[in-house]
Amino acid sequence: MTETQVSAEDFALIQQQVRSFIRTKVVPRETEIMREDRIPDDLRTAAAEMGLFGYAIPDEWGGLGLDLTQDVELAMEFGYTTLSLRSMFGTNNGIAGQVLVGFGTDEQKKRWLERIASGEVVASFALTEPGAGSNPAGLRTRATRDGDGWVIDGRKQYITNAPIADLFIVFARTAEPAAGNPGIAVFLVPATTPGVEVGPKDAKMGQEGAWTADVAFDQVRVPADALIGGDEGAGYKAAMTSLARGRVHIAALAVGTAQRALDESVAYAASTTQGSERIGDFQLVQAMLADQQAGVLAGRAMVRETARAYVTGEDRRIAPSATKLFCTEMVGRVADLAVQVHGGAGYMKEIPVERIYRDVRLLRLYEGTSEIQRLIVGGALVRRAVAAL
Ligand SMILES: Cc1cc2nc3c(=O)[nH]c(=O)nc-3n(C[C@H](O)[C@H](O)[C@H](O)COP(=O)(O)OP(=O)(O)OC[C@H]3O[C@@H](n4cnc5c(N)ncnc54)[C@H](O)[C@@H]3O)c2cc1C
Repeated sequence: MTETQVSAEDFALIQQQVRSFIRTKVVPRETEIMREDRIPDDLRTAAAEMGLFGYAIPDEWGGLGLDLTQDVELAMEFGYTTLSLRSMFGTNNGIAGQVLVGFGTDEQKKRWLERIASGEVVASFALTEPGAGSNPAGLRTRATRDGDGWVIDGRKQYITNAPIADLFIVFARTAEPAAGNPGIAVFLVPATTPGVEVGPKDAKMGQEGAWTADVAFDQVRVPADALIGGDEGAGYKAAMTSLARGRVHIAALAVGTAQRALDESVAYAASTTQGSERIGDFQLVQAMLADQQAGVLAGRAMVRETARAYVTGEDRRIAPSATKLFCTEMVGRVADLAVQVHGGAGYMKEIPVERIYRDVRLLRLYEGTSEIQRLIVGGALVRRAVAAL
């Protein structure tokens, strides 16, 4: 069982500071971020000063040391604005950082975590490849022993923060898959290592300001101590563990964005008229607001319960996937309704719900698609029932 490292009083202050930062400093600049496709430097600096590059990294390694029940509360705050802000420090705290926290040696943690937590180093999680997204066990990037070290060859795609990364957490095959061993290891590869090539940044549907790119590894030599945990067999488990935790965080982000879409919808319905009638007085518009509100309340309750059960160790598999599935589908419906409440205005750039509609589409795709979450949940339920027969 993981204990909460930060007291409720201290956490309340952190949450208040983050809420104020998001709502007074970031929300007013959403259009600028969207138009320029970048997070302004002063917002990055402010986020780093608040410890946001390391809120989920233990305090002994320079982070704020929040547990998952606290992480999701912050994620609901981050979800209230452009999701690209969260993406800037999301890989450091989440999928990339948690691999080091959970599976790194003390030496590796000492070398990297403090700089990751401060934002000096941006870490990227490089798992997905062409043909190996939903099924990462099929990845083809290879790491071959070379004296004491390793040589890595292969190509990754859609890697968040790759264009600004200092460190790649790279999953590579060291052996053919065998029963109980997918043959996947994970390595620490500094972006400046000869043979690492980051492609041009991808042109995406939404989340302007958050960048992804392909990363090619061509005869990339790394020393023996680049192997995370010094354990060739740790890679697949490290990826799955980090992703399961990340799913609860993504679900919380979805709830935060759904709340924003609801607030925008209510404000619009209350202030806009057709003829002499307020659109919020139309019962069919009220019905849309009610469905949005119900989704937000259900999602928030589910996220909090799932984070609690994750921290106690009661459920780190079924609930994270079920919660990501529910909340990311929920925010898709809520965002769609938000556009509907806004009528034609909802289709116009620079109206927040237009951006939200595009931004949240990604949540159903990465860190496991909705189909993969269904397979995880359904498969685990049936396996458990069969085992009890
Ligand atoms: C903006 C963005 C950022 C990303 N960031 C990262 C990152 O930082 N690091 C990283 O490693 N990856 C990252 N990804 C990759 C992401 O996790 C994958 O795109 C995702 O897991 C889906 O894999 P895929 O694209 O190969 O699609 P596919 O797996 O080919 O899926 C295509 C369709 O087939 C369905 N499908 C696949 N397998 C099954 C099955 N067994 N049963 C039923 N249906 C199935 C899927 O649900 C989907 O509908 C990112 C992707 C995007 C778009």
